[in-house]
Amino acid sequence: MSTFQNKTIIITGAAMGLGLAAAKKLADLKANITLVDYNESALREAEKEILKEFPGTGILTVVADVSKEEQVKNYVQKTLDTFKRIDGFYNNAGIEGRQAPLTEYDLGIFQKVLDINLLGVYYGMRYIIPVMQKQNYGRIVNVASVGGIRGVVNQTAYVATKHAVAGMTKNAALEYGKFNIMTNAIAPGAILTPMVAEAFKQVNPADPKLAETEYAKANPTKRLGIPEEVANVVAFLLSEECSYVNGQVLAIDGGESNAY
Ligand code: NAD
Repeated sequence: MSTFQNKTIIITGAAMGLGLAAAKKLADLKANITLVDYNESALREAEKEILKEFPGTGILTVVADVSKEEQVKNYVQKTLDTFKRIDGFYNNAGIEGRQAPLTEYDLGIFQKVLDINLLGVYYGMRYIIPVMQKQNYGRIVNVASVGGIRGVVNQTAYVATKHAVAGMTKNAALEYGKFNIMTNAIAPGAILTPMVAEAFKQVNPADPKLAETEYAKANPTKRLGIPEEVANVVAFLLSEECSYVNGQVLAIDGGESNAY
């Protein structure tokens, strides 16, 4: 795979977890990166960490809530002001919400999950695709989930929004492929990030580690994934070489979603 020299990639939810792992991978591959997150202190830490590991990386940080349209426009504009182009977009920020059966799901949390996971992902594409159209080049990786291709008990809002992300990915692929914009989604299984650690705390507050071990038993690999395993796939999907893969929702889950 060629490097990302002179390419600019925007990463949302970049302060930790999957976003941070991808930011490091892309920094290693010489990309300029815009890191977007609403957790300002974690964002500053992430920037420091990346610059320590990959000195000289072109980094712009923008504090933004992806569910706020004006703040999305702002991170897009700031990236253009700084780096002049947007070659890739890792549309990653998302939340899990709280776990509860469908009829008992808290409506306020439902709305928040919709705002971030669905509208946040949509706003990002809405304002970045026109830039990519002008360049006649772009790569977009939306973050769905295995919850975007299967149901997950007690996670109605999450599953609804991740199916929506898979759907929007297919539409963007159909509508903008002619501009050399390849739009794909990833569907990670359980990957060890702060979000998943929190989910295991909800499943078994007394012993989250036990919940994790039990969960891993169902996976063909008998383990959870790590963020770097996702970042490697994302780097390919954001690269020039990803030139004829478009509209796919790619599971990164050790094969677990194939089970009946
Ligand atoms: P995480 O909670 O560890 O990190 C998410 C980051 O996104 C945090 O830094 C958080 O501050 C930021 N963020 C959340 N909402 C935001 C908003 N409105 N605006 C800006 N920043 C925001 O989560 P993660 O596990 O790294 O998950 C990243 C993405 O991957 C999410 O979309 C998640 O649904 C998806 N995903 C994760 C897994 C997994 O196993 N970790 C599996 C499937 C899908």
